[in-house]
Amino acid sequence: MSRSVSEIIASLGTGIHIDGQWRDAASGDTFEVDNPATGEVIATLANGGKADADAAIDVAAAKQAEWAAVPARERSEILRRAYELLTERAEELALLMTTEMGKPLAEARGEVAYGAEFFRWFAEEAVRIPGDARLSPDGKTRFVITHEPVGPCILITPWNFPMAMVSRKIGPAIAAGCTMVYKPAELTPLTSLYVLDVLREAGLPDGVLSVVCTTDAGSVVEPWIDSGKARKLSFTGSTPVGKLLLEQCSRGVLRTSMELGGNAPFIVCEDADLDVAVDAAMAAKMRNMGEACTAANRILVHRSVLPDFSAKLTERMSALNVGDGAADGTDVGPLVAGKAVDKVVELVDDAVDRGAEVLCGGSRPSGNGYFYPPTVLSGVSAESQIMTTEIFGPVAALVPFDTDDEAIEIANATEFGLVSYVMSESLDRGLSLSERLEAGMVGLNTGLVSNPAAPFGGIKQSGLGREGGLTGIQEFLETKYLAIPVR
Ligand code: NAD
Repeated sequence: MSRSVSEIIASLGTGIHIDGQWRDAASGDTFEVDNPATGEVIATLANGGKADADAAIDVAAAKQAEWAAVPARERSEILRRAYELLTERAEELALLMTTEMGKPLAEARGEVAYGAEFFRWFAEEAVRIPGDARLSPDGKTRFVITHEPVGPCILITPWNFPMAMVSRKIGPAIAAGCTMVYKPAELTPLTSLYVLDVLREAGLPDGVLSVVCTTDAGSVVEPWIDSGKARKLSFTGSTPVGKLLLEQCSRGVLRTSMELGGNAPFIVCEDADLDVAVDAAMAAKMRNMGEACTAANRILVHRSVLPDFSAKLTERMSALNVGDGAADGTDVGPLVAGKAVDKVVELVDDAVDRGAEVLCGGSRPSGNGYFYPPTVLSGVSAESQIMTTEIFGPVAALVPFDTDDEAIEIANATEFGLVSYVMSESLDRGLSLSERLEAGMVGLNTGLVSNPAAPFGGIKQSGLGREGGLTGIQEFLETKYLAIPVR
């Protein structure tokens, strides 16, 4: 029989889990988690601080050698079992995620499938960690090159994909043999606690993954960084916080992986199939209500097709149903918090003040919950804040261009370089534009690039390193080489 969301929440632990035990915060503090569709409090969790952080990192350091010695096949099978359990329980986890984060159930189901897939992918990678043996050029030395777990890792994730952003880190860390301390986003900790429970049921030994929820991230993360016991920090979140953490990590020369903010350009050439382009724009813009680092932030459309493209896009955007993500027929849920709506309102008002035309949406609805309607803005000027700021909401900003050179110039005029999108029926042109775009990933005639089997990540101020794909596990491995004289 399926459980209600309150039964699922009641089954989760306190919010601090160290060495196999749920704990209250050493300070006794708690914090509340709410449902963004209603503003109602749905859970109260332990609010961790430095004392809890110290206890967690001590355990991660103490357990590292033992965990690294567990055979790869065993680590692989824990991941595989976790993938299977998450797949069986997808409906429960999707409901929990929707209740704390707001995304419609269909999207939450999609995220559970995507997030679980990282466990399956890294279950397969765990047993294929490569090594190398060769002879030095002068023939006098044998080199034996191995890859070892980097050591205890600090994991930090945002609220927008509360499951996939952490399974993308936990999967390769388990596969590589690293212990972990993890601080989830304070807005969406419940999904993380559910995933932790599944991993324990799948056989993850006590102490390999400790979790400390908190509303004061610095009070937990900085002690971890300065403990001298962590060897790596893997962060997904905004660029300003990423920069701060890079500075902090420099003190102990920790290895870092940084999945940071984006400002994706979406280029529609005049030879694009406009139906394909509109489908792709809907996916790239509206996935997660626009609250995605991969969201199309600036939609650059060749002037000759702008009227057709904007009419088709506006028709699709206007037809979307906005409401509680848990209700049938909802396409667009609430944004994650009231502050998120305030920011979208500010960006739209600024664009309109600078001459943009509102083709649909454009104003905050009254009533409970943190809602904002699907909005299309045309003729957005280059000076508008929306051109340089992550919108993180359901707002499509259309900008005309006349030549490919102009499109590339606008597209690359940002300090971000996560993902770009190109719509063209000419393969040569599409490839040439893709090569000229400063981004870690390009979607050519598609609005969706995320795939556990592909290397996800950005250049410029969008980050360092890649998650998923064949190289994802390397982020959690150190190379060691043995020199052996030939005698
Ligand atoms: P955020 O940077 O505010 O928070 C991310 C995480 O960092 C949270 O867990 C937060 O508690 C923690 N944090 C905040 N201050 C900290 C500090 N001083 N020390 C340690 N940790 C701290 O980001 P957000 O609002 O949660 O998420 C949205 C951002 O994440 C957007 O910029 C988005 O583009 C980015 N993002 C990037 C990717 C990617 O893969 N590149 C994926 C998803 C989201």
